[in-house]
Amino acid sequence: MELQSFYRDTWAEINLDHIFYHVQSLINILPEEVKVFAVVKANAYGHGDVQVARTALSAGANFLAVATFDEALSLRQKGIKAPILILGATRPQDAALAAELDLTLTVFQLDWLKQANEELNKSKRLRIHLKIDTGMGRIGIKSGKEIEEIEEYISEHSAFYLEGTFTHFAQADSLDKTYYNQQLSTFEELLKSFKQRPEIVHSSNSAAALRYPEGYFNAVRFGISMYGLTPSLEIEPELPYPLKQAISLKTKLVHVKKIQKGEKVGYGSTYEASGEEWIGTLPIGYADGWIRKLQGQEVLVDGQRVPIVGRVCMDQTTIKLPSSLPVGTEVTLIGSQGAEYISVNEIAKKLETINYEVTCMVSNRVPRVYIQGGEIVEVSNGLIS
Ligand SMILES: *Cc1c(COP(=O)(O)O)cnc(C)c1O
Repeated sequence: MELQSFYRDTWAEINLDHIFYHVQSLINILPEEVKVFAVVKANAYGHGDVQVARTALSAGANFLAVATFDEALSLRQKGIKAPILILGATRPQDAALAAELDLTLTVFQLDWLKQANEELNKSKRLRIHLKIDTGMGRIGIKSGKEIEEIEEYISEHSAFYLEGTFTHFAQADSLDKTYYNQQLSTFEELLKSFKQRPEIVHSSNSAAALRYPEGYFNAVRFGISMYGLTPSLEIEPELPYPLKQAISLKTKLVHVKKIQKGEKVGYGSTYEASGEEWIGTLPIGYADGWIRKLQGQEVLVDGQRVPIVGRVCMDQTTIKLPSSLPVGTEVTLIGSQGAEYISVNEIAKKLETINYEVTCMVSNRVPRVYIQGGEIVEVSNGLIS
């Protein structure tokens, strides 16, 4: 028997047209010489690395960026040939394989270069970007002296090609521009330490790319807003074009039952019916990223908002229905149904976190269904692919 892509009534829908639109809209506001890194770390913020990478590249993105070596390897194994920058630290012992796979590494220590130099097969040069810490306090060199030392070391060791340099802003998503300005001028000052400025200089994440042209240099790193999500709620009114959330999370009623006054629902029996009520069971739980703190959150069924009642379990969630509805009725946890809409931001607010974390949380157990031109073009299932 031929296998289907998945066998459960819970899935995430990813609208690839929205991803395409956000990349294209960004390119439209950028000067011609400014290139775009599509940031597809963390399985493209939960949306699916290779599908988003392909869509972003077809919309005009020039490069990809991920956080870890394994993420870059995953893209190469799925046939992605575009340049990939690994934004985080990579181990020096992995430098040779990185060069072999044509991956670009982030470097911020002279010692790292010395160790990597021992590993590198000199026939294949390793492309690197030098990370400068201008106030994020995470990774990066902090002085002109270090830049000079590293540049000199690289000029004497042909195993490396210093292709780029970059920094990262801590507060580009804040209405207060003070800290951004401070980091930008530190970066500009430190760039003067290069004898020869690398070919690709970049500093902007989504928030900065959408708000501050003065920090473009010649590339930007576009993450959260490629997925149609605002970098922060406070800057949403300032965004140059409307964002369209790319992800929806859907499920179906698998059981519907009437309970009587006093009957209880779920672990800990935290919910008690106050009268005759209809309860629906959904096949999604905290192992899918639909976490326990979502108790009380509303979901959409039959075009209406209804609450989650009782505790969210590992694999199942119970909701209060307005009336008896057929098993198999679609329930929207994130996205729109009729005139109603539940945004990723609404879930983030309920969870006292940011939209970034919500989409990253949707686990490997949830199949992703890709929509393009109103049709399903691909389905991916991390479990049985
Ligand atoms: C994740 C990340 C980005 C993307 O940031 P968004 O706010 O999602 O646009 C850019 N640069 C670095 C270094 C990152 O780690």
